[in-house]
Amino acid sequence: MAPHHVSVVTTSTLEGWSIEGYRGFVAAHVVTGTGLFSDLAAGFSDIFGGRSGAYQKQLASIKSEVINLLREQAIRAGANWVIGARVDFDEISGKGVQMFMVSAQGTAVRARPLDQQSSDTGRKRRLSPDEIKSGIERSALVLTATEQKLKFDDRAWNSLARHQVVEATRAVVGQYAASKGNDMATVALVKEKVNRFVVSLPTDEASTELHRIIDDAPNLSVEATELIVTHNLVDLAWVKDRIHSEDVRLRRAALQLIGGDPPLYDESSLGLVTDILAALPTAFPERVETRARKKLFGREGTVWVCRYGHETDIETLRCTVCGYDKRGLKVGDLFPERAISLLRCRQAVLAERF
Ligand SMILES: [Zn+2]
Repeated sequence: MAPHHVSVVTTSTLEGWSIEGYRGFVAAHVVTGTGLFSDLAAGFSDIFGGRSGAYQKQLASIKSEVINLLREQAIRAGANWVIGARVDFDEISGKGVQMFMVSAQGTAVRARPLDQQSSDTGRKRRLSPDEIKSGIERSALVLTATEQKLKFDDRAWNSLARHQVVEATRAVVGQYAASKGNDMATVALVKEKVNRFVVSLPTDEASTELHRIIDDAPNLSVEATELIVTHNLVDLAWVKDRIHSEDVRLRRAALQLIGGDPPLYDESSLGLVTDILAALPTAFPERVETRARKKLFGREGTVWVCRYGHETDIETLRCTVCGYDKRGLKVGDLFPERAISLLRCRQAVLAERF
């Protein structure tokens, strides 16, 4: 059985599955060398110099590595699920050496899907007082976050990560977007907390929620896109669908996501990558409205209209107000040409493996 056939969940029960046997506690650790945090400690300039993105990517890849190790342990124990899983990040320092450890642990269980009938017979569930207490704390967080009443102090940030409050993702992304009006140091601090939060979430749920934010919260689209790319949470099926969207904002978001990776590539990825590649060359035409305008000295001239309705001289490539070009792209965006070359490389590897 391939490692990804073991599902890892944070809950201690499995809805729709019957646990047939407990195969014991499983744990895995990945210790990485120095420098991860010293980069951050070296100053905020690093964060804006692009290193922090690399750091977060590294964090995400260590996290998936440690979870895969946990899956291997579970397979050796004869299990097909790991329940009650948690991932911890620890900094180990002493004697001038600084290391960073990511640990994952959980309980390996053997479970089989319940058929419809037996799931109606009512299984006995047991909860400890601690689980009740934790559940109450979590519910309160979900409520305040969804009502946009969460006060983002250190305590709240810690609780959100500890309870993996995926329901608060939108509020967190909103907090990140709002922080951008502040000075660089403040933005960097918030960004660090946001990244910690995203890392704490179960991968699939974080991915689903962030893609949903792009779909229905245009004002948070840029931040959600950035987080998906940083944390390797790309949903290729979403990209394939949105690259055909009528809405240039969604097409542009889909294009930017090609700069990141999905948590795992599987058999379906090759087909998706191939479809996206086929759509890319024509997905960003120079489709702009033009108008005649009186220019200096009474001469007639032509202007084009950007997606925000600004008028720019037809000879000028980018809108002078918002910076979007005639394809609806901006400096700093991943452009279709570059996206195509990135995807071709992945397509070649996938074609070899699947
Ligand atoms: Zn404009």
